[in-house]
Amino acid sequence: NRRFVLARRPEGEPDADTLRLETVERPAPGPGQMLLRNEFLSLDPYMRGRMSDAPSYAAPVEIGEVMVGGTVAEVVSSDVAGFAPGDRVVAFGGWQDYAISDGRGVINMGPDPQNPSWALGVLGMPGLTAWAGLTQIGQPQKGETLVVAGASGPVGATVGQIGRILGLRVVGIAGGAEKCAHVTGTLGFDACIDYKSEGFAAMLAQAVPDGIDIYFENVGGAVFDAVLPLLNPRARIPVCGLISQYNATGLPEGPDRLGQLMGQVLKRRMTLRGFIVFDDFGHLYGEFAEAMGDWVRQGRIRYREEMIDGLENAPAAFIGLLRGEAFGKRVIRLNA
Ligand code: NDP
Repeated sequence: NRRFVLARRPEGEPDADTLRLETVERPAPGPGQMLLRNEFLSLDPYMRGRMSDAPSYAAPVEIGEVMVGGTVAEVVSSDVAGFAPGDRVVAFGGWQDYAISDGRGVINMGPDPQNPSWALGVLGMPGLTAWAGLTQIGQPQKGETLVVAGASGPVGATVGQIGRILGLRVVGIAGGAEKCAHVTGTLGFDACIDYKSEGFAAMLAQAVPDGIDIYFENVGGAVFDAVLPLLNPRARIPVCGLISQYNATGLPEGPDRLGQLMGQVLKRRMTLRGFIVFDDFGHLYGEFAEAMGDWVRQGRIRYREEMIDGLENAPAAFIGLLRGEAFGKRVIRLNA
């Protein structure tokens, strides 16, 4: 059983010394447990938070512990009711070849699911994040303008496509011409603005002639600075993620603009609401799965995946994800 454990808490960007590859004996399941062989490991931005021991909504991974992560796995042997050898499951198996589970929180997809790895993306946690954040906090009304940051990523891409289905004008923000072409061409957003290009703020303003009613926040930082002046009275801002800050080691340079921001929130009566997907919206999973399953089957929601072979390549792929190198959902295919 190969596994990555947390070797050192990163300061700033994680590096080659953050995680350590170990080979240990394959774990043996006890009574009431099952043995899972991980086939796909999801790479997600929240993992950066678990590497840190700063106070957060979830406990950190301890030094020497296996790095956490969502997985699609095959049941090898089972003493858990409802799970049989050969079943494919969605679990929290971590960065390792094999995992033990008592079945809690594990979803059984049966022996032959279509596109099993999609359960780590559009049909799973990131999809639920997109759907619940937009519908529950965004409160979309037909004809409104939605702006989505991180528009080519698994959450952002899904938010925007749902927005289109609900009759919104949807403008994405993404890094680079290639991602923007995908966002408008393949995903069908009305427009996409490259935040790395010169004149980004002016182009964004031009793309939202009626202002912004909903801003789905995935990145924070300079992107939010450009969005803020364009927000309409009673705008809703689901605060989903702030990936531009996850590797930050301190406050950015510059004057303190918090007072100004709060003034805008007051005068324009805006709602900013953060959420943690399973804590706040886990109870809506069934409703989400039904709606999203239909949309994906009908081809109304498209999904882009970046499959990377080999557990040993997971750390570099994760560091790249935080640098903006991912184009679509990053998934590691394990080969045990
Ligand atoms: P993404 O694939 O969207 O995240 C990686 C992308 O983020 C990169 O490709 C890059 O896109 C963008 N990015 C990276 N660094 C920066 C930067 N400095 N400034 C702007 N953009 C940057 O991941 P997900 O779709 O999985 O997640 C999107 C967000 O949602 C994350 O912030 C994540 O933490 C959050 N999240 C929150 C949940 C919750 O419960 N609240 C649950 C799941 C996700 P580009 O090249 O376009 O810049």
